[in-house]
Amino acid sequence: MNKHCHSCSMPISGPFAGEARGDYCQHCVDETGKLRPREAVRQGIAMWLSSWSPGVTEEQCLDRAKHFMNAMPAWAE
Ligand SMILES: [Zn+2]
Repeated sequence: MNKHCHSCSMPISGPFAGEARGDYCQHCVDETGKLRPREAVRQGIAMWLSSWSPGVTEEQCLDRAKHFMNAMPAWAE
């Protein structure tokens, strides 16, 4: 089974994986391997969402990113 980033769910093992940093992908941690701040990760997820959701506003994407993150082990409340 492929591993996914605990922060953004991007695959971190398998043929389409990016470079992993432990349980996280390289987008979700800084150069020291520490998880990025919640807002920084949220911005990244919102941009990713908007790239395949034409017509959806930035505000809506940020809102969706927030819900998305609440389902992730790294950010669950
Ligand atoms: Zn990630």
